[in-house]
Amino acid sequence: MPTYKAPVSDTVFLLSDVFDYAKYANTPGFSEAPLDVVEAILTEGAKFVEEVIQPLNRIGDLEGCRRREDGSVTTPKGFKEAYKSLVEAGWVGLAGDPKYGGQGLPLFLGALFGEYECSANIAFSMYPGLTRGAVAAIMVHANDDLKARYLPKMTTGEWTGTMNLTEPHCGTDLGLVKTKAVPQADGSYAITGQKIFISAGEHDLADNIIHLVLARIEGAPAGVKGISLFLMPKFLPDADGRPGQRNGVVCGSIEHKMGIHGNSTAVLNYDGAKGWLVGEEHRGLPAMFVMMNGARLAVAIQGLGLSEVAYQNAAAYAKERRQGRSLKGPVEPDKPADLLLVHPDVRRMLLEIRAFNEAARALLVWIALTEDEARFSPDPQARQAADDRLGLMTPVLKGVFTDVGFANTVKAQQVLGGHGYIGEWGMEQFVRDARIAMIYEGANGVQALDLVGRKLPKDGGRAVMAFFGEVSQFLAANKDDALLAPYLGGLQGALGQLQQATLWLSKNGLADPDNAGAASTDYMHLFGLTALGYMWARIVKAVLARQAKGDSNPALDAKLTLAKFFSERMLPEAGAHLARIRTGAATLMALPAEAF
Ligand SMILES: Cc1cc2nc3c(=O)[nH]c(=O)nc-3n(C[C@H](O)[C@H](O)[C@H](O)COP(=O)(O)OP(=O)(O)OC[C@H]3O[C@@H](n4cnc5c(N)ncnc54)[C@H](O)[C@@H]3O)c2cc1C
Repeated sequence: MPTYKAPVSDTVFLLSDVFDYAKYANTPGFSEAPLDVVEAILTEGAKFVEEVIQPLNRIGDLEGCRRREDGSVTTPKGFKEAYKSLVEAGWVGLAGDPKYGGQGLPLFLGALFGEYECSANIAFSMYPGLTRGAVAAIMVHANDDLKARYLPKMTTGEWTGTMNLTEPHCGTDLGLVKTKAVPQADGSYAITGQKIFISAGEHDLADNIIHLVLARIEGAPAGVKGISLFLMPKFLPDADGRPGQRNGVVCGSIEHKMGIHGNSTAVLNYDGAKGWLVGEEHRGLPAMFVMMNGARLAVAIQGLGLSEVAYQNAAAYAKERRQGRSLKGPVEPDKPADLLLVHPDVRRMLLEIRAFNEAARALLVWIALTEDEARFSPDPQARQAADDRLGLMTPVLKGVFTDVGFANTVKAQQVLGGHGYIGEWGMEQFVRDARIAMIYEGANGVQALDLVGRKLPKDGGRAVMAFFGEVSQFLAANKDDALLAPYLGGLQGALGQLQQATLWLSKNGLADPDNAGAASTDYMHLFGLTALGYMWARIVKAVLARQAKGDSNPALDAKLTLAKFFSERMLPEAGAHLARIRTGAATLMALPAEAF
């Protein structure tokens, strides 16, 4: 059976030493959360996920969710009790608005706790995760009446939330949405249509489920400019705010799928279901983007979470399993064989995963703090810079963390050989669970296009130029540091290649948009590698500062080795990405359709 230990000390090191947590003290919400409080919360959260949620991961996979004849859905054994404990302990509303029953802590805490939740049990984590996302969209776009009616129960997690975008004929292209909304005399809308693949769409964990639904008001223009957003509860709240009359939304079936079996993926049929407009008519997609952007980061965290838990179990296995002898001769001649860890290729797999995980966690901490700055910084310039960075990095984190996260679960499975393929070790579940993260919340190809087509040119390239400026300044400021400089060459090279790729795109993408599309996935990964390289450089600087103060913790030396490994063996991939980008679209587009 797999195990999991949340990396609390690593997270705290990143906050304290790498990102200088103290400098956020003036950001609203942070005064309630000095570092020792943050550490205590994360430690408590770690205990909760390790003891309550993680033990349900395999049960959830084996049992899955079951739909009954009446359309109700039963979640796997133990989920209901665990969810109740999660709500009662206040974990759903950790960063929620105190006005609605939240704890008012900074947003970043939710993201960091989210990593632990995802490592422990990604299927379970989606119920509270989607709820937080729906709360965020309602907060920004709903009127006061809807907020007062729904947010108190949703912020705490007593009622859960969902996002209803996908229809049988449309996933990526939401301009094709057909679900229809007809205005009613009481100000509500009667909504009719069908949505598919709705995560947490029906279940028995909460007294009510609040669906956020994209639909087209009768007579609305075609395409994305005719879509509106509606709030549609499973039960209409009565005069006291309790779940009352059943609304006309039912679960027609749930999907039998590759992974995340503990999360119910529902087909929802609306038959004149009552819904209320959220935000303005025909402006539903921008309103839904609040939830979608949050969900993209949440899905990125799923990639990291699964990569981390897969690593922990593969490393534990490699420290116990004995096969063969070291190429240099027996390391433990008194034993029948040496440990797997003596083999360079096994180490390669483990180190590739770990060197990614630690830098990805740093990138997550940075971007999670950035989100708080973007929302709450008292300084308008800092708010804008943070908002730029958040927008630029969202597709990078979503695409890169989930592509690499999935690849890492496969690598970790490989470390266990045949046992990795067998259910009881849990590795094949990690692989199956990780696969969906590359697909939903905008498939990764679409994330890459968002980066290249929208985020790069936005505001005349302000966000990307700020990123280049920040990394260049870091390199320039530290080039004469004799201890740090040896770690910076790889980053300098990757940054140069990313800048060349950006220049190439700005010339050739405009000349032929297929060039931009053909380059997009490589560009996203080149960006990710550079950002992760920057994180390693910042980690090394923090480690050296600690060591200069006499800290001789061996975990610090391990970080230096991992930084070197990343620079020597992972950053060179940047060159291959650039080479592919420069070939353009010609070969990709050469074959006529009938040749496929
Ligand atoms: C388990 C699961 C849970 C889900 N949960 C939810 C949920 O809670 N709510 C919800 O609304 N949806 C949900 N989805 C739906 C999911 O978001 C969609 O499947 C996804 O957005 C892709 O849409 P599609 O399946 O229609 O694929 P398509 O849109 O048909 O795309 C197929 C492929 O073509 C590529 N592609 C499509 N258009 C373009 C383009 N313009 N340019 C370049 N490439 C393109 C895509 O990248 C993809 O690789 C879920 C799906 C699954 C499987």
